[in-house]
Amino acid sequence: MKIVCPDCKEKATLSDDFAFVKCDKCSYDSTYGEYVKYIAYKDSRYSDILSDYKDKKQ
Ligand SMILES: [Zn+2]
Repeated sequence: MKIVCPDCKEKATLSDDFAFVKCDKCSYDSTYGEYVKYIAYKDSRYSDILSDYKDKKQ
């Protein structure tokens, strides 16, 4: 199934057995357990990341 990559915000692939997460765009590659922890760690920084992204696109 497709989930959001925590690094590039593109679509990453979660394996059918929920064992690992892999992103084709930025080569993010992790176990699902590490992915969940990574999301939690980065969550408080999402707003900053998104505003940076908007600034760069303009
Ligand atoms: Zn990615």
